[in-house]
Amino acid sequence: MPFDEAAETERQMFMTLLGSEESKAQRHIFFAERAARKVPDMPAGVKPRPVARAAVIGAGTMGQGIAMSLANAGIPVTLIDTTDEALARGRANIEATYRSSAARGNLAPEEAEKRTELIRGATALEAVSDADLIIEAVFEEMRLKKSIFRELDRLTAPGAVLATNTSTLDVDAIAAETARPGDVLGMHFFSPANIMKLLEIVRGKATAFDALKTAMDVGQHMGKVGVISGVCDGFIGNRMLHKRSTEVERLMIEGALPQEIDAAVLEFGFPMGPCAMGDLAGLDVGWRIRKERGTKAPISDALCEEGRYGQKTDKGYFLYETGSRVPRPDPEVDALIVATSKRLGVTRRAIDKQEIVERMVYPMINEGARILEEGIAMRPGDIDVVWVYGYGWPVARGGPMYYADRVGLAEIAARLNHYAGQVGDESLAPAPLLARLAADAKGFGSLSQEA
Ligand code: NAD
Repeated sequence: MPFDEAAETERQMFMTLLGSEESKAQRHIFFAERAARKVPDMPAGVKPRPVARAAVIGAGTMGQGIAMSLANAGIPVTLIDTTDEALARGRANIEATYRSSAARGNLAPEEAEKRTELIRGATALEAVSDADLIIEAVFEEMRLKKSIFRELDRLTAPGAVLATNTSTLDVDAIAAETARPGDVLGMHFFSPANIMKLLEIVRGKATAFDALKTAMDVGQHMGKVGVISGVCDGFIGNRMLHKRSTEVERLMIEGALPQEIDAAVLEFGFPMGPCAMGDLAGLDVGWRIRKERGTKAPISDALCEEGRYGQKTDKGYFLYETGSRVPRPDPEVDALIVATSKRLGVTRRAIDKQEIVERMVYPMINEGARILEEGIAMRPGDIDVVWVYGYGWPVARGGPMYYADRVGLAEIAARLNHYAGQVGDESLAPAPLLARLAADAKGFGSLSQEA
């Protein structure tokens, strides 16, 4: 094609793309990510506290990734665990990760070595004394976390920022163990913490502005996308995910199989279906939480009772050949699901892709509306950023709240009412904010314009 003609064709194609839904959605996320850095009530001129050294408590899965994220930002880190063995295991994993990045050509060997050296180990909590930012990543047990924060209050320098990586515990209750709750907040990383971009920064009732700013600033230096969340069970992302998990269970009992659910979600654009994601994270995690809380998920519980914890045991919702991460449907699981429906007296029915997608996505959107109403998230765009960067929501669909506006809130409200009746769960009915916006023919986007 002659050059001028080609240039004109290219311009035409560019204009077509510019007007596309996918392009609009991606521009929405671009701006939402920037807007997430603004805290409307933060007084002008608040400066982050200097962070010359950090400490990470707990050298497990999360602690290792968090320590690497800090070292990647050039921040020296003291990694603390209770025993030399735990510490050695953590350090060996960190070294292996850096070595493999260097081997793949993603990192210069000197740089890999430099970052490894930035992480020093300790087995006594006293080693936190010279750190300006402490991130706690020990087991998810309230008593343990409280006792660690009482110790941190005693051992750390005045003005040190004290963060917890808890996924489910009350950050205000942890802060209340210290005489300086203004220094305490949540820094909720996603696994693997050295890779995943999302960082939920959990702002407690008493969190000081400059402590919040410090966490946001360090997050940005680590290359994370920070989103501020208020304190509630699950914060923004996991609280919404929980609604999706409930529907996964229900859909399986009513008639769907894991491979059908995952296929519909993949087709929507997620890189991974919810069942494969459960297998990756470990089904036993939710099982333990349910046992503690006295709740049930008949199918997931039954899988765990058979030792099917997911990828770590080579079988969960799916089968995995040893060393492979490719999920393969398992007739044994299909049989277990069919038997569970029968045991519960449910007559199974065929469930189409549209219903699967609606029941995966609409209850999440509904929870997003509650999260906004309660002020847990500051803006609908913050929720979109959480889902795009933390959970693989397809960026071309702009995040759940943006997507909801595209579908139309009246349609979503109608479908939620329909499913609330079908399933017999009133909590699926439209949240007041969603219902109000739908009645006014408005979208969630109108809230950002008003703000
Ligand atoms: P893990 O079991 O892999 O690691 C916990 C580490 O803490 C262990 O090495 C343990 O020896 C150490 N530890 C226990 N008590 C200690 C103490 N008193 N002092 C120092 N170290 C101590 O757990 P994990 O998956 O890394 O989770 C850690 C925290 O991160 C939990 O609060 C969890 O809810 C949260 N979290 C986990 C994920 C995830 O996907 N795994 C994601 C986000 C947040």
